[in-house]
Amino acid sequence: MTPTKKSPIWHPFTQHALHGEMTEVVRGDGAYLYTADGRRIIDAISSWWVVTHGHCHPLIVSAIQKQAEKLNQIIFAGHTHEPAEEVAALLLNLAPCGLDYVFFSDSGSTSVEVALKMALGYWHNIGQPRTRIVVMQHSYHGDTVGTMSVGARGVFNAAYQPLLFDVSSVPFPESGHEQATLDSLEAACRNENPAAFIVEPLILGAGGMRMYPACVLKEMKRICEASNVLFIADEVMTGWGRTGTLFACEQAGVSPDIACYSKGLTGGSLPLAVTLCRADIFDAHYSKDRTRTFFHSSSYTANPVACAAAKANLDLWQNRPYASLASVVAMQEQEIEPFRGDARFKNVRQIGTITALDLKVPDGGYLAGIGPQLQAFFSGRNLLLRPLGNTIYVMPPYCVTAADLHEVYAAINEAADALG
Ligand SMILES: *Cc1c(COP(=O)(O)O)cnc(C)c1O
Repeated sequence: MTPTKKSPIWHPFTQHALHGEMTEVVRGDGAYLYTADGRRIIDAISSWWVVTHGHCHPLIVSAIQKQAEKLNQIIFAGHTHEPAEEVAALLLNLAPCGLDYVFFSDSGSTSVEVALKMALGYWHNIGQPRTRIVVMQHSYHGDTVGTMSVGARGVFNAAYQPLLFDVSSVPFPESGHEQATLDSLEAACRNENPAAFIVEPLILGAGGMRMYPACVLKEMKRICEASNVLFIADEVMTGWGRTGTLFACEQAGVSPDIACYSKGLTGGSLPLAVTLCRADIFDAHYSKDRTRTFFHSSSYTANPVACAAAKANLDLWQNRPYASLASVVAMQEQEIEPFRGDARFKNVRQIGTITALDLKVPDGGYLAGIGPQLQAFFSGRNLLLRPLGNTIYVMPPYCVTAADLHEVYAAINEAADALG
């Protein structure tokens, strides 16, 4: 690619008037990215939270190659294939108990759309129509109109606001104010006859890496269960080991009624998503009456190559790589420790393999100039970090080394002096 030629590509979450050239990446290997201009970059955010075992993991790559030669696409209505059947069976084995059916789609957003449609379809089909959804403040569930509706409202969706449907929101359980969240959820469940409550378990990702304890998650599930409100766990980001367990719900002993998984489902190699649900949600759609069909599909539903990649990922998890996961958790603990009590930062925090800390700046928030400045600083040190405003977070692939992480935190330390 000649650097002088202007590309016609419109990039995601990118202000082209402010952003210079895009970094051209030619190869990925483990925790590293290699650029066209010969640099090696440490991928400290797992390429937007998707890469789990590392870029181009050999077992996943070979599974993709084998499947691509055999069957690379098939209509999934009225048809099935081995990779999808294997993935579904393995998923139900690994997921929290009580989940009985697997619906495939192709992105985290779609898996959430499917979850919402399953919930509304359930109430509609059992003859007690309910349409209200309860959400948590600061949540992110995707960028489609439906998922924007259940996510935080702000500058990201101001232009589309009139099209977004109305929801009830409970406050984020800030430390010391957890009871307010629970009271608010209880009131919403009692007074508004909601179809479902949707929540990101233990950590709100795009909403600023905000963490809350497992006991709150457990209590929220109890409230939903007691009020007969469906509990949807959006584990699109938290799944696949990020929080230190395979799924975040495990830490609270919570079995959601509906669960969404994507990002790390294929180890970060190909787009695929699943929505798992309880048998009675499937059963509410099971009928000789065609009007009760679950009317949802994507062209590439359960694409065989993506399923083969997911199968390889699930095989890796079947072999219980929890020792390497625990070592990432420990390395992260060690590196974040010196920042606790550092006057340049606040809210220094960790859950599992994820750490986050907020640089003290006079003017924070996502659009504050500090975000792009930090990003440029890290990029100059060959590190891929993408702060959310003044919130710097580290979410590495699990093959990251102690030396890589040390380099990342040394740069965070320098950035705070240079830009804080
Ligand atoms: C990323 C994300 C989504 C959306 O997933 P896409 O694959 O980007 O559509 C939904 N929910 C959560 C919690 C996410 O982090």
